[in-house]
This record gives sequence, C-alpha cells and structure tokens, in this order.
Amino acid sequence: MLSVTITGSSGRMGRALIETLAASSKARLHAAVDRGGSALLGLDAGEFAGVGALDVHIRDDLALVLPGTDAVIDFTRPEATLHYLPLCVAAGVPMVIGTTGFGAEQRALIEVAAQRIPIVLAANFSVGVNLCLKLLDTAARVLDEGFDIEIIEAHHRHKVDAPSGTALALGQAVANALGRDLSECAVYGREGITGERDPKTIGFSTVRGGDIVGDHTVLFADIGERIEITHKASSRATFARGAVHAAHWVKGRAPGLYDMQGVLGLR
Ligand code: NAD
Repeated sequence: MLSVTITGSSGRMGRALIETLAASSKARLHAAVDRGGSALLGLDAGEFAGVGALDVHIRDDLALVLPGTDAVIDFTRPEATLHYLPLCVAAGVPMVIGTTGFGAEQRALIEVAAQRIPIVLAANFSVGVNLCLKLLDTAARVLDEGFDIEIIEAHHRHKVDAPSGTALALGQAVANALGRDLSECAVYGREGITGERDPKTIGFSTVRGGDIVGDHTVLFADIGERIEITHKASSRATFARGAVHAAHWVKGRAPGLYDMQGVLGLR
C-alpha cells in the first residue's frame, strides 16, 4: 500500500486527491498538510472531502509527517512548493508536483532538488492531455508550412495564473517539434492595431469563467482548412488519479526530474 502525503489539502485539487486516495485499494492518505493559519487545520481530511472520516487530520507541519511517507503530492502555489521542496529533499521523500505558474528561477530550484530526490513535475496529470502532447508533436511536424498555430484555453474564475501551465506545455510541444524558441515566438493575447499575423508566432488566448475545469484547443489554421486538437476536463478526478499513478511510479526511482509523458511511457 502506497502511503501518500498531500499538501494543499483544503484546495480544489486537495479535495479531489483525498477522494481518490480514499477510494483506492493500492494507495492511502498518510497525512494531509495545509498552510499555517488555515481554518481547516485539525479537521479530519475525509470528513472535509465528504468521504467519511479517515482518521487523518489536516496539519501544517510537513517535516513531522514525512517519515513513513512514500511520496508527497503537491498542488498548491509556487511559493508553497518551494517551501516544501527542501523538506522532502532532507527526508529523501519523492515529490509529485502539479502546481503551476513557476518562473524560470523557481523551476531551476526544482531541477537542483531533483538531483537529490525523484520528482515528477507536470502541468497536467490527465492521460488525455498527455496523449494530446504526443499527437501535437506529429501534427506540428506535418502542418509546419502555411498553418497558423493558436492555443485557446478556458478555466474557472478562481484560477490565478495565465495562460495555464497546460497551454504553455502544449505550446512548448509545438515549438519543440518545429524547432522554434517559445520565449521568442509566443504572443500572449492581442489588442488594438496589431498588424498582420506573423506566421512564425504561436498565439495564446485565455478565457476565465464559472466552474470550467479546464479546456484546451490547439488550432492549426490554413487557407481552406482548420485542424483542432481539443481536450476538455470535466472533473478534477482525472488530474488526481494521474498524480496518484505518478506517485506509484516515482517510488524507488533514481533522483531526477520526470514528467507525465515519461510516467505514461509516451516517448
Ligand atoms: P486552490 O486555490 O483550490 O488550492 C490551493 C491550496 O494551496 C490550498 O489548500 C491553499 O491553502 C494552499 N496554499 C496556498 N498558498 C499556500 C502557501 N503559501 N503555503 C502552503 N499552502 C498554500 O487551487 P487548486 O485549484 O487546487 O490548484 C492548485 C494548483 O494546482 C494550481 O497551481 C493549479 O494551477 C494546479 N493544477 C494543476 C493540475 C495538473 O494536472 N498539474 C490540475 C489542476 C490544478
């Protein structure tokens, strides 16, 4: 039985992870951690998530619960992940990181930590999105000439970063396939007199509203035809199940930075 500790327990993904672990016969919730000062500290995690008491109470001291933990699953905020990272390194506990919105320097800190512990870092843990990344690689290589490439994403009103980490990962997959540098060719939103579209750019558009769990479309548009590769998530359970799958996979691995493509054997 895999013993999993989660951070961000009171969040939307935290709740989905508690539900997934409570229903699993191969993994269990070892400990549930949240930020100091959270009103939910002390609550039974299972009662909080509506799956019945699990006798695991939400607490704020990750270091104390790491002994006996096989993997930490973190869906929080970049500053929280970077707070938890050295604690996992010190305890030698693998991490599965689903948090998005890291800057280049923050990502570099994760890469340094991955020299000491195995870490799976993915902007999207759903099998479907990871399949889309693979499909995109093929599509971009075939549709290189003449096709304009635009990425459109939609999420719920509470999301704090834009474009989504998944949209950026989709853009990166396309850029890699085409030999382009995403930092140079990305265009984030348009307004006013923009001039004609530069064919070498990859455009990003963001929609925020309601309770949309996560929609992504990569559009390849030429004169006379359009191809769209679309993924729509309707439940956070898909991300939670993928993260728990990654936690099983990462246990016992050599230190290194892995992604969901690697976990799923898609490359
Ligand atoms: P949320 O706002 O519902 O929950 C965030 C959690 O992090 C809360 O429990 C909060 O208390 C905790 N937190 C925030 N700041 C903290 C701090 N400084 N220290 C400790 N804990 C802190 O967010 P969410 O919708 O659950 O998403 C969490 C993250 O996961 C976001 O970055 C989101 O983009 C990402 N996400 C990734 C995937 C994926 O598949 N990789 C899927 C969904 C969401």
